[in-house]
Amino acid sequence: MNIHEYQAKELFERFDVASPKGQVASTAEEAESVAREIGGSGLVVKAQVHAGGRGKGTFKNGFQGGVHLTDCPQKAGELSSQMLGQVLVTKQTGEEGRMVRKVMIAESVDIEHEYYLAILMDRQSCSPVIVASTEGGMDIEEVAESTPEKIIRQEIHPLAGLQAYEIRNLCAGLGLKGDFAKQFSKLLKNLYRLFLSCDCSMVEINPLVSTPDGKILALDAKFGFDDNALYRQPEIVAYRDTEEEDPREVAASEYDLNYIGLDGNIACLVNGAGLAMATMDNIKHFGGDPANFLDVGGGATQEQVAAAFRIILADPKVEGVLVNIFGGIMQCDIIAKGIIEAAKETNLSVPLIVRLEGTNVKEGRKLISESGLDVITAEDLSDAAEKAVQAVKAARA
Ligand code: ADP
Ligand code: MG
Repeated sequence: MNIHEYQAKELFERFDVASPKGQVASTAEEAESVAREIGGSGLVVKAQVHAGGRGKGTFKNGFQGGVHLTDCPQKAGELSSQMLGQVLVTKQTGEEGRMVRKVMIAESVDIEHEYYLAILMDRQSCSPVIVASTEGGMDIEEVAESTPEKIIRQEIHPLAGLQAYEIRNLCAGLGLKGDFAKQFSKLLKNLYRLFLSCDCSMVEINPLVSTPDGKILALDAKFGFDDNALYRQPEIVAYRDTEEEDPREVAASEYDLNYIGLDGNIACLVNGAGLAMATMDNIKHFGGDPANFLDVGGGATQEQVAAAFRIILADPKVEGVLVNIFGGIMQCDIIAKGIIEAAKETNLSVPLIVRLEGTNVKEGRKLISESGLDVITAEDLSDAAEKAVQAVKAARA
């Protein structure tokens, strides 16, 4: 799960991570009045979407940039009206971009230097890792690609925690001395505490800046949270903005389905994550493109299967459905009943390829063959994938 920058700011405040004052607004008028409240000598107006690269992004209406500096509250309102209700395309949004529904107005600060600072879960070392660089700002991807030696990594032992010498190493690597090093050290300790307490999968501050008046401040914030830990993070869950998520995934999460939306046209309904991955690989192998990953799990009910089927069919890109079930704990007749129910309800109009094997397979196959549905049956995984790819091609021709 991700959150917005204005929400991240609340977390920063709670954990004492220094960042400029800011407030969210959903209309231009609100933005202007918030800007007056913040006051001060300079302001920044920032589009709030769950994607980075806003500074260098372009709106579909031609307006350039999702981050603008201004020194006048009225101008802050005008800038907000250019962004609100418009679609912002950045390197991270994909071509379709993201609708901007909120802006954040914050104090602007004078920047002496832009650093990069992130904490992530590293699967390879099985530990949190701190990633930092002196070359922060809007081109960090470029830095990582062309000058990887400028990226510093510090793995943190999950039991020992963040050590003073590790912080000193990072300060040395970033060239931070004296009071800057002191402030950085405090900020990093608090950020690490936040990272652990809130079950983050990543937190990225780009840029973390030093200012001419001697401060270290977080100017941007991107958070990812471990979905499997959300059950014990009610305050984080309250930040969820389903409008920023794939509507298919939002619907699937209501039924506890393990679903990830993709760009292809062959929908998959599979039990078991490994089998679901293998199914997608096989579709690719035969020249097709999966529309989703979907693991209905071992103990799915008929209702969940029907819901899964409705969700994949509601995707306008879907031109065929491949059901691949290897019934172990899952019973093939339950799957069959769910499919039949949903297929009838949705007036299924795309080819349906079914491979059933395992517990209660006879009952399952019988139900399907007597259902009156136009089903293409398959013997095994490859056969099913090949038939799905062919059926979609044939339906197009
Ligand atoms: P993104 O990473 O999505 O492009 P940022 O929040 O990093 O968005 O903003 C882009 C750039 O705008 C930053 O690299 C920084 O130079 C500038 N910026 C952002 N917030 C402020 C601020 N409060 N004061 C001054 N400059 C800012
Ligand atoms: Mg940034």
